[in-house]
Amino acid sequence: MRLAERAHTLPPSGIRKFFELTEARDDVISLGVGEPDFSAPWAARTAAIDSLERGRTSYTANRGIAALRERIAAHHERYGQRYDPETEVVVTTGASEAVDLAFRALVDPGDVVAVHEPTYISYRPGIELAGGKPLAVPTRAADDFRLTRERLEAAGADAADLLVLCYPNNPTGAIMDEGTLAEVAAFCREHDLRVVADEIYAALTYGGEHASIATQPGMRERSVVINGFSKAYAMTGLRLGYALGPADAIDGMNRIHQYTMLSAPTTAQHAAMAALDRCDEEVREMVDEYNRRRRLVVSRFNGMGLDTFEPKGAFYAFPDCGGDDDRFAEELLESTGVAVVPGSVFGSGGEGHLRVSYATSMRELKEATDRMAAFVEEAWEPDR
Ligand code: PMP
Repeated sequence: MRLAERAHTLPPSGIRKFFELTEARDDVISLGVGEPDFSAPWAARTAAIDSLERGRTSYTANRGIAALRERIAAHHERYGQRYDPETEVVVTTGASEAVDLAFRALVDPGDVVAVHEPTYISYRPGIELAGGKPLAVPTRAADDFRLTRERLEAAGADAADLLVLCYPNNPTGAIMDEGTLAEVAAFCREHDLRVVADEIYAALTYGGEHASIATQPGMRERSVVINGFSKAYAMTGLRLGYALGPADAIDGMNRIHQYTMLSAPTTAQHAAMAALDRCDEEVREMVDEYNRRRRLVVSRFNGMGLDTFEPKGAFYAFPDCGGDDDRFAEELLESTGVAVVPGSVFGSGGEGHLRVSYATSMRELKEATDRMAAFVEEAWEPDR
């Protein structure tokens, strides 16, 4: 069948492509997927079951159940963010839908959208589908992969219409500090950039609180903040996310949402209310466990000579493999059965690095890093 230009020019996801290689063998330890190895907290699961038992199987309001929006708005006060649940919140089918809606509602054909890289792989296709032109802004390990004013200037982002910010960052684990964030906010105000801030990993930080661009002076009215339940509450399969922003932006997004999605999954909305009401303790336990694993992998990588910047958020480490990341990942998989994702998949600045997810059990992480250490010691030739 003849496909629309936009469908056949979209490249296949670099992550998926790589994972097809893992299907052939049964001894694979995958440190490749970006999702929690935990199940959703029991209170969230029972709320979902209970909603089904009560027959709550209809659509909800387009913007999501009002009581859920109220809880979301209240929850975000912990980040210094204040939003009106009536007009400034829309509940979506995963953060993924919120990202797509933000681009479709904010990007006109030809608009330039600055994206710091390495970053999550869905932004570039989303921007292009909306007719925008992505502008890569590389970040560096030397800056702890923070987006700085200097990097924005060097990339010519003053000419951009919109900036996508993803901190805590997938794939590097970097977070932004208040000082650097203030510089980026000043740049956005001076050059009239709006911001889409994907903060889905906000709850997963280790030793530094998440700082949101939307709380910088003058930034609330030019920012859309995206978050969701997939990562913090281990609810990837329930597909629930949301966006927060000024009423005009949320209204624009909801106008698209009400035709394309109608409403986010009802069962998941009930689970999400319980998650916000009763699961703080489980989130804390998961964060503590990720933190233990984070320390293990960072010290093991540095021990085997793979320079690793200390990730402060999300659940990824981003070691420098000292050579071609694609070849490292392929040879590692072939000779040891350990799957990691080549850093170059995540854009400029990712070359020579590997994304390693530590949302995997301690036992598997130990086994995988043992196998990696043997590979680095005995087989890896960075300069070949
Ligand atoms: N944003 C980032 C940065 C992510 O890493 C992911 C999931 N890998 C998403 C958005 C999508 O999340 P959801 O499951 O809520 O659609």
